[in-house]
Amino acid sequence: MLASSSKSFEDLERALGYQFRDKSLLLQAITHKSYASEHALKNYETLEFLGDSLINFFVVDLLISQFPEAPEGELAMMKSYFVSEDYLYELAEELSLDLYLLVGGKKKNNNNISPSLLSDTFEALWAAIYLDCGKSADQTKAIFHKLYKDRIIEAAKKGEYKRDYKTLLQEETQKRWKERPVYRVINVEGPHHNRVFEIECSIREYRATAKGKSKKMAEHLAAKKVLELIKSSEG
Ligand code: MN
Repeated sequence: MLASSSKSFEDLERALGYQFRDKSLLLQAITHKSYASEHALKNYETLEFLGDSLINFFVVDLLISQFPEAPEGELAMMKSYFVSEDYLYELAEELSLDLYLLVGGKKKNNNNISPSLLSDTFEALWAAIYLDCGKSADQTKAIFHKLYKDRIIEAAKKGEYKRDYKTLLQEETQKRWKERPVYRVINVEGPHHNRVFEIECSIREYRATAKGKSKKMAEHLAAKKVLELIKSSEG
């Protein structure tokens, strides 16, 4: 039934710490409309719609209980970062969701899946879990928090949501040279459920590489290093 490029669900279920009773829900969550129409399957769009709300709820619930004293404006800033396409894309990459995604037509090549498509699938996945466990928001939230609570709290404490090094670096290079840094994937290693990406960031004579569990994270770290190089070269 599945395309030859797609993985069996076992690794994904293991990574999630959740086993689906109804695998068709999981199948739907990874099925893009382009593939669905070619194979008479349901696509993930309504699941995405629901999953988007669930993730918002899980994140806000976590932030409120963790930072009860934080003003609403601060919480809103945190929330928008942790439910952003970029952040969810990073979580999706760690699950190797791109390897499962079923896309049809011109999008057949899984090597170039856009961040928005992958983050949509990630949202759909959480709706699939919610429906599969009998619409238990508590159970679904517990699975989400088990996977992501610590990293979200840690990132929030570090103020990561306020500092995007890729943006900071680009602002700096535009200001100095009217140029943008270039990012390049140097290496991808590790088993598919635990990949490590190595990215090089370069601009003019400045160059640094960094590794991360997602491209986004590796780019972020490489950008941080290059920014430090540029600043330290000022003497
Ligand atoms: Mn979406």
